[in-house]
Amino acid sequence: MKKVGIIGLGLIGGSFAISIREQFNVVEIIGLDLSQSHREQALQKGLIDEVFDLDDLSVLRSCDLVFLAVPVTVICELLNKVLDVADYNTLVLDAGSTKKEICKLVENHPKRSQFLACHPIAGTEFSGPTAAIHDLFARKIQIICEFDKTRADLAQKALDLFEGMQMKIRYMDPVMHDKHLAYVSHLSHISSFMLGKTVMQLEPDEKNIFDMAGSGFESTVRLAKSSPEMWAPIFIQNKENVIDSLERYIQNLEQFKENLIQENEAFIRTEMKDINSIKSILNRIPTNNKSQ
Ligand code: NAD
Repeated sequence: MKKVGIIGLGLIGGSFAISIREQFNVVEIIGLDLSQSHREQALQKGLIDEVFDLDDLSVLRSCDLVFLAVPVTVICELLNKVLDVADYNTLVLDAGSTKKEICKLVENHPKRSQFLACHPIAGTEFSGPTAAIHDLFARKIQIICEFDKTRADLAQKALDLFEGMQMKIRYMDPVMHDKHLAYVSHLSHISSFMLGKTVMQLEPDEKNIFDMAGSGFESTVRLAKSSPEMWAPIFIQNKENVIDSLERYIQNLEQFKENLIQENEAFIRTEMKDINSIKSILNRIPTNNKSQ
């Protein structure tokens, strides 16, 4: 790998740049980003060697690899344009947290076989180039969708790259991807945001929140620190699945409240005991494999 282009120099794009440099020590990395401060930070941090304007994507033509790590709506805007300028041997990857719309959008592009749809299950609640970290992807799952639509030599190049990053591959259909992610990721973020909102409404004295945050509130509300610029487009793109999961969640909250009003302790205990089984499911995940 001699030249890599990264669009979106935040947590994911920046951490990808760090992994690329570790794997290929003589690689030139060029970066594109809407935010001037992010472009400057990415240069200062040594994530990239050079920055370019987004209005001229032709700088990506000579890249061996182009990685799109911008919000999912922006991936949808840029992906076909990136493929338009890509050389025959340029592999194009994305990191978007939704997959159905992205795969649909690119399906008829004449260079569809140069694209591989990916979603690294790796992240933190922080964003921007300053959040980029070494080893973000190591031992994490890389979800790949529609693998057989990518040209064999380019698909192999991607697999070799992910192996070098010590990632574990999971293949998934894009529709199923969006359904599963709504349940295990998107709903958790909404629930965390709404928990944060409710506590701030009920407890206007910030000092009380600060002093008592150790009671479990801090860990439960951690995801409410996440970037609205990244998450709002995900919720909207995956609206149907997110609404389905929200409806079930609201039903469960209502049922819990009803039983509390009735002081139905037996129900509440049984309910919590049943849900305790989540411990054995989560304990199977090695500590170093946990991410947002
Ligand atoms: P981030 O906010 O840290 O970085 C996004 C970058 O994109 C920022 O530097 C921003 O300035 C830039 N950007 C925004 N709009 C742009 C535009 N129109 N043109 C060019 N640049 C633009 O976000 P992130 O966490 O790195 O997420 C990037 C992608 O990776 C998203 O698609 C997200 O769904 C996906 N993803 C995120 C996580 C996570 O946990 N954060 C995990 C897996 C995948």
